[in-house]
Amino acid sequence: MNRGPRFGPAGVPPLFWFMKAALTDVPRLLREEGLDAFEYEAVQWGKKPQMRKEEAQRLRLEAEQNDVWLSLHGSYFINFCGEEAIVEASKQRLTACAIAAEWMGAHVVVFHPGAYGKRSRVEALKTCSKALEEVVENMLSLGVRNVRIGPETMGRTYQLGSLDEALNLCETVEHTQLVVDWSHLHARDKGRFRTVEDFSSVVGLIEKRLGTEAVKNLHCHFTKIEFTDKGEKRHHTLQEARYGPDFRLLAKVIAEFKLKPVIISESPILDLDAMKMRDILQEESEKS
Ligand SMILES: [Zn+2]
Repeated sequence: MNRGPRFGPAGVPPLFWFMKAALTDVPRLLREEGLDAFEYEAVQWGKKPQMRKEEAQRLRLEAEQNDVWLSLHGSYFINFCGEEAIVEASKQRLTACAIAAEWMGAHVVVFHPGAYGKRSRVEALKTCSKALEEVVENMLSLGVRNVRIGPETMGRTYQLGSLDEALNLCETVEHTQLVVDWSHLHARDKGRFRTVEDFSSVVGLIEKRLGTEAVKNLHCHFTKIEFTDKGEKRHHTLQEARYGPDFRLLAKVIAEFKLKPVIISESPILDLDAMKMRDILQEESEKS
């Protein structure tokens, strides 16, 4: 079980690249920054794991030694609502990500469910959940038992992944873990998070539909975000006052309800904003 709240970056921070750090150095470097989560980016992967098993296992060891919670962001080339051939390829891609996640001890494979395309929303959701059931069955038959697949809430109106749809996938498919991208929800719903209550009502809804354990142990993405009528446009750093949502409002909810989320920073300054969010939550926890 996660001993969260935990914070970490989506991918290797620029400074680490600059230092020429190896992937296996990342958990230790994050620990030195006082961070304790890391989302490995497998976003360009195809139908096979694009990493050697030995390297994944070394990452696992380093993560365990430094108490860094691992997750893996699956391929962007996934669409569970497309033509049959696309859905089939997507199943292989998600399975490849899940296999590598099992190697590295990542707890969840985050993925984008797809785009509605020509399908109605209801039909797209049905196609997606059927495909996911098949992926899970296949994963289990391959011995991938410790990884959950995580449908992410999506930021654009043409993408499958409203909060209701992501909840529905988690209700209907086994071995799932809801991934709440707060910024995506903010963008998709044109700035819905303005008050503490805006956040706590979502927390309440998740608890009602998925239960107390699920809401306590959420996997989240957070950054500030710019949006248009169609939803998400661009990610921004926490210090840019003209964009929302305000992390402090969510931090108040996390502190009040003693939630233990893993919060992945998708800010342009990944780890630096992860540290900032950690400190904001610390302040709010001391107040409550
Ligand atoms: Zn994502």
